[in-house]
Amino acid sequence: MWNRRGFLSGLAAATVSTRAWAGPRPIVRRDFLVCLDPGHGGDNDGCRSADGSVVEKDLTLRTALALQAAVLAKLPHVQVVLTREDDQSCTLAERVAFANAAEADAFISLHTNASQSKTQHGFETYVLDARASSLEAARTARRENDAELCEPGSTRDGAEVATMLRQLEMTQQRLAAGRFAQSIQAHQRKRFPKRVDRGVRQAPFDVLMGARMPAVLFESGFLDHEEEGSLLTSDTGMDSIVGGLADAVVDLYRAHVQTR
Ligand SMILES: [Zn+2]
Repeated sequence: MWNRRGFLSGLAAATVSTRAWAGPRPIVRRDFLVCLDPGHGGDNDGCRSADGSVVEKDLTLRTALALQAAVLAKLPHVQVVLTREDDQSCTLAERVAFANAAEADAFISLHTNASQSKTQHGFETYVLDARASSLEAARTARRENDAELCEPGSTRDGAEVATMLRQLEMTQQRLAAGRFAQSIQAHQRKRFPKRVDRGVRQAPFDVLMGARMPAVLFESGFLDHEEEGSLLTSDTGMDSIVGGLADAVVDLYRAHVQTR
């Protein structure tokens, strides 16, 4: 069971004790916290596999738990936390608030995609923008935003997004999110040279809005595509997806260390 209050108080204690230590700090002890967000949960199933046997909320949780283990195997000294650790409902605002409260250095919202025709396939990574970069990006944002209206070129709650973007530009987090998204795509390409790289896209995702760290939303593939859905749910597919994501986190960690 995810106990946010318990986690935050524990984190606060750990942070205080780390910061109170004034002695020389070995490089491996630098603070770095990744927040993983398994999309959907509870009464929000997300999308389904072609035969209906797998729901997105279960696959995103499985991915997050595997990614947590993979990152800790590569970077044992960092912290990896999840916005949910079981099948529970969690609003998009709560997810980003959790990442902010934890003072995360990176936020990855994990999802699988679906298309009206059930024929699209490929992996893509989103960063926040007021405008959707394409009709497909708008459709994806609309689905992940719990059916909020979002059309390409149109603004959704423009004033709020504009304020957020100004803050992001000031803090350079938006640029860092773009680099992180590119790195995620590059590592997936390496693992899946024959799959379609749908690239880095922009859209007004609620779950990225307000994040005070490099924040991305990763769509690992189309769960409702018969062939790709089978890959996404297989152990070998999961291993490669998670391995690529973990490599991207390592890249981000290295960049983070260099700037400190
Ligand atoms: Zn989703």
